[in-house]
Amino acid sequence: MDKYYLTTAIDYANAAPHIGHAYEKIAADIIARYKRLKGNDVFFLTGTDEHGSKVEKAALAAGLTPQSFVDGIAAKFQDAWKRLLISNDRFIRTTEEQHKHVVQEVFRKMREKGDVYKGKYVGLYCEGCEDFLRERDLKEDGTCPNHLKPPKQFEEENYFFALSKYKDAVRDWLKSSEGRLKPEGRRLEVLNQLEDPELADFSITRSRSALTWGIAVPDEPDQVIYVWIDALTNYLTGAGYLTDEKAWQKYWPADLHLIGKDISKFHAIYWPAMLMSIEVPLPNLVFGHGFITVEGQKMSKSLGNVLDPVYLTETYGADAVRYFLFAANTFDQDGDFSVGDMISLVNSHLANNLGNLLNRLLTLLDKNFAGKVPEIKLEQGMSEKIEKATASYMENMEIFEFSKAIKDALSLVDESNKYINDSKPWALFKEGKMDEGGKVIATSMCFLKRAAILLSPIMPKLANEIWMQLGFKGTIESVTTGSDAYSMTMPAGQAVNNMGPVFKRIEDVQETAASATK
Ligand SMILES: [Zn+2]
Repeated sequence: MDKYYLTTAIDYANAAPHIGHAYEKIAADIIARYKRLKGNDVFFLTGTDEHGSKVEKAALAAGLTPQSFVDGIAAKFQDAWKRLLISNDRFIRTTEEQHKHVVQEVFRKMREKGDVYKGKYVGLYCEGCEDFLRERDLKEDGTCPNHLKPPKQFEEENYFFALSKYKDAVRDWLKSSEGRLKPEGRRLEVLNQLEDPELADFSITRSRSALTWGIAVPDEPDQVIYVWIDALTNYLTGAGYLTDEKAWQKYWPADLHLIGKDISKFHAIYWPAMLMSIEVPLPNLVFGHGFITVEGQKMSKSLGNVLDPVYLTETYGADAVRYFLFAANTFDQDGDFSVGDMISLVNSHLANNLGNLLNRLLTLLDKNFAGKVPEIKLEQGMSEKIEKATASYMENMEIFEFSKAIKDALSLVDESNKYINDSKPWALFKEGKMDEGGKVIATSMCFLKRAAILLSPIMPKLANEIWMQLGFKGTIESVTTGSDAYSMTMPAGQAVNNMGPVFKRIEDVQETAASATK
């Protein structure tokens, strides 16, 4: 059984989660569930990034200590992911003792390797970015283009990391045949950044006076480890580096670091260089996804359109939110979330097409076969259709083309609805042609069964509901492509459970995105 270790970016714990955070976690969850379906031994890591001056400030404003502040934020993230049915195996917090230990050991190893040296840092630092800026990165008025604030002048003695030693090796890795950073446009962007002569050795510590809330440099408590070194190391801690040898041997290297496109530089330049320094194999793939706007606008506190995933889940259900985000958007590009669009899409796809198919089938089955699946031989033409849609789905899931994979799964539903409309089993039953009518019903159920399995990574709750109504015992999560339950056929004589609509239409709520924002 192949292992599959995937991670998300850890979210900065200075505020509650928004739909942008949710987008990435749901994507990772879809991949994790898909890999489990394929029989992989999956380890799925997510968590919160809890150090740094922004957290310290937010805690101060809330009248709390940084630790109790991040305890509250981490709980909010965990609660949101639970509601959204995120199936992470571990939730890592960078304030955990285990993580602090690993970060210090990583620092120690880099220092022993001769890759960390003391130097004077003079420059500009944006607290919003948690990064150093150059004059030419600034807007004409001297402010950070992302945060519209002037960066701070910094001059102090810090430790530097010898990135220059690893630039060539990082370039080779980025150019290696596997394409270590995807999508391709992002890889080319980072290769360009790598050629920038100003991308040089960078400071990896702050003085304790400049940054109190962070992990101390080993044996030097007045120096604090730069928040990016701390954050990136979570991928090692999560896999048991230096603490759980068995897990480490099994899961490292990471198969996928899923990240937002804006942090590609950290993951595809700094991170591989760090790993080379401590002599740890590099991850197999870094994937930088696009961003989600809300009703066509960039999310921001000042616009008051920061969408709360907990509110959305409570109001519309996790399945609707998950489905819309990935059916309506292309993952490697920027996308949008609109409540109105979500309602019309899920009503059409899930209530009308999918839910209605199940309802029709079970009603006809109850009426004509006492709710038991008749025995049939699935026609070759029909099984070929199921196989073809499945193969296309798999291809698309492998490259994170979720919207196309969803189309492949739904094509089985459309095919089946069309087959029923064309063959009119209710008319066949009226004429007493029970075998012929039964064949239409049972064949359609085979289509629906496979559709439910393929949709289960995207909508776990809805897929389980269909699974149960089709009369299967246990959860759909126990199905793998190698198991009997995965087979295309429906077990003859299986009793179904007709429990009514699996997805109720969302009535056209007169609701704007504003009510979902905070
Ligand atoms: Zn900034």
